[in-house]
Amino acid sequence: MDNARTIPIQTASLEGDGMGCHAGGEQLLAAAKAAGKSETLQQYAADYPRVENAGPHDQPQSMCPAFGSLRVGLRMRRTATILSGSACCVYGLTFTSHFYGARRSVGYVPFNSETLVTGKLFEDIREAVHAQANPAELDAIVVINLCVPTASGVPLQLLPKEIQGVRIIGIDVPGFGVPTHAEAKDVLAGAMLRYARDEVQNGPVAAPRGGRQDKPTITLLGEMFPADPVIIGQMIAPMGLAVGPSVPTREWRELYAALDCAAVAAIHPFYTASVREFEAAGRPVIGSAPVGLDGTQAWLQRIGEACGIPTALIDQARNQALHGMRDMLAKQSIKGRITLSGYEGSELLVARLLIECGADVPYVGSACPATRWNAEDAEWLRHKGVQVQFRASLEQDMAAVHAFQPDLAIGTTPIVQKAKQLCIPSLYFTNLISARPLMGVAGAGSLVQVIQAAMGNKTRFDAMKSFFDGVGSGHAAGVWEGVPQDRPEFKAETRRQLEKKLKKRKAEEMG
Ligand code: SF4
Repeated sequence: MDNARTIPIQTASLEGDGMGCHAGGEQLLAAAKAAGKSETLQQYAADYPRVENAGPHDQPQSMCPAFGSLRVGLRMRRTATILSGSACCVYGLTFTSHFYGARRSVGYVPFNSETLVTGKLFEDIREAVHAQANPAELDAIVVINLCVPTASGVPLQLLPKEIQGVRIIGIDVPGFGVPTHAEAKDVLAGAMLRYARDEVQNGPVAAPRGGRQDKPTITLLGEMFPADPVIIGQMIAPMGLAVGPSVPTREWRELYAALDCAAVAAIHPFYTASVREFEAAGRPVIGSAPVGLDGTQAWLQRIGEACGIPTALIDQARNQALHGMRDMLAKQSIKGRITLSGYEGSELLVARLLIECGADVPYVGSACPATRWNAEDAEWLRHKGVQVQFRASLEQDMAAVHAFQPDLAIGTTPIVQKAKQLCIPSLYFTNLISARPLMGVAGAGSLVQVIQAAMGNKTRFDAMKSFFDGVGSGHAAGVWEGVPQDRPEFKAETRRQLEKKLKKRKAEEMG
């Protein structure tokens, strides 16, 4: 490689046992700061604030946060995504991305203690990027530093900005700096918007694939069910507005169209870095979303005002949108108590809709933080007596299920599992709630259907419980001639030996 040079990398504080998300986040954070990543980490701390001394979200509780960035890259046309991180992290991330239907290869630049310490890893990354940068096939290459390369200060900012017209975007997405995979989507979306904004400022850029809209557009922030942008488009049409791209976009040139909007709707409220780019481009950003009667009224009003639409047209849009919804919501067809938790960022919107559909929702937990774009939703919910928990931990979500004994628990995998054990019908938020429309009559209709069906399963749970009654649980689960005796001391000894082996292996790896 021409003018290749070795960048010395700080690794002293990483040696030994301090690797990965099961090690101390504090240790990795300190190492990253010492290795020159202070500015990036300070920005993350400001963009994605944690609850002081909260504990559980100091470490990823669910999937690795970097999955958010990886998914955004993998869903874009003509974009290659390369990971730089420990093999076990990359294995997990590629597994998850293919589980979610990536249909695309994930690039990987492996390292060992020597390439990490000598700076050769950075050279390897640079070489990989040069080898991949084929403008006939790619608009952009995304390189993602996972925990260890971030903590070691691998300087992706020194990669070329573009190679033969292929844009190179290097980002750090460590689990100890970005709390959730939702916010990691923003890390990449924000970096891409910043790049695209620079390009717009420096000359003409490509038009959208289908040409520019002839009406002022609203850019939508957040991954949505495909029907939702269409429904929102119908709602705002009477105001002479159209829906623009959704960010994260599916193609590089859509970034320009996203910036070229009249206003931005932060439907998902955690896109802080992206909002920064839109605000720098002079675009107003509106929070909440058109869900339920109250939400739709308020949202259309604010969108209209932000775009300078005459009151008569705003009223027309509101009347049209609320017409069909009123009858549907007035039926209040969800009967029962629901606890709700998730890490997608749309939990508060779903809770609003559930309540307007008649549900009793005493608790909403979101792994995402409170922001100015979900402040109104939180206030509306609290006014209805709902306990709203931002940066909710698994323990808080579990405690809510125990305390409120709901007829239906909507949540993440461990919540659903726990609820099933308690014989409470449950639904996965990510797969079954956030993967369906939410907006307008269609959103309310589809939500009511899935909730009613799930609540109707209670009798099946009861039947199952009585069928399996008496087969034991935990160490005694199963059918035995004599119930097995628990041996906690054996388990402790096995764990001790495994930890010892792991330490020895790490020490050997680090040479
Ligand atoms: S990159 Fe993800 S899986 Fe790997 S150590 Fe960090 S948080 Fe854990």
